[in-house]
Amino acid sequence: MDIPRIFNIAESNHRIHNPFTSEDLATLGAALHLKAGNRVLDLGSGSGELLCTWAKDFGIIGTGVDMSQLFHTQAKLRAEELAVVNQVGFIHDDAAGYIATEKVDVAACIGATWIGGGVAGTIELLDKSLLAGGIILIGEPYWIQRPPTEDIAKGCLAGAISDYLLLPELIRSFHALNYDVVEMVLADQKGWDRYMAAQWLTMRRWLETNPDDDFVENVRAQLDSDPERYTRYTREYMGWGVFALMKR
Ligand code: SAH
Repeated sequence: MDIPRIFNIAESNHRIHNPFTSEDLATLGAALHLKAGNRVLDLGSGSGELLCTWAKDFGIIGTGVDMSQLFHTQAKLRAEELAVVNQVGFIHDDAAGYIATEKVDVAACIGATWIGGGVAGTIELLDKSLLAGGIILIGEPYWIQRPPTEDIAKGCLAGAISDYLLLPELIRSFHALNYDVVEMVLADQKGWDRYMAAQWLTMRRWLETNPDDDFVENVRAQLDSDPERYTRYTREYMGWGVFALMKR
């Protein structure tokens, strides 16, 4: 079981697989007033940076579920590196339908809401693992400006304009699901650049060291097109943030 190979190649050097910087992640952890011993569940936990750094900095206990074999392995290495192996555990699996055996204080899905079939379904799924009064974290893109055409939305790698909302509309959609938005940390263009531009050197180096791999054409095509696509579309039109929600 794994995710499409292009992600495992292009993001193999990433600690955070979304437009958040390590500062953004620390800001979010501090903003939530996490306490030692708080339990955190992270669906689509990637390379485990959220759980490992929050375990080290705030003393949380965490479980992460991720489908990428590579990211899962990197998460376990990161836990060793930060000496938090006794606090965090990582499961290599599809997170769809995953419910924690012991309920958690914080249930997160950061940039992987397809796991629950969209934002609403993911909130519903996370809620099944959450203690009463707990916090749900959703990391999700939004439109900074709505693309004027469907072609531009596709340039942002959205399926359609309707896949995402403007920021106030996204906030309203959380309210419509009967949740208070109690905190948010938004990424900025520099964070987007760290997420996207950092993939280009990784891909270039991969091409140099794997000239005979049968995936070369895919990686070459992505490296050829991605810098212009990203700067023309995603960088101008897409925002990204993590929203902290509590049931009303
Ligand atoms: N939350 C992490 C990773 C975000 S990228 C971070 O912020 O760094 C999206 C992640 O979802 C990837 O790590 C990918 O491997 C994972 N993923 C995709 N589909 C999944 C699924 N069905 N179940 C579990 N993980 C999934």
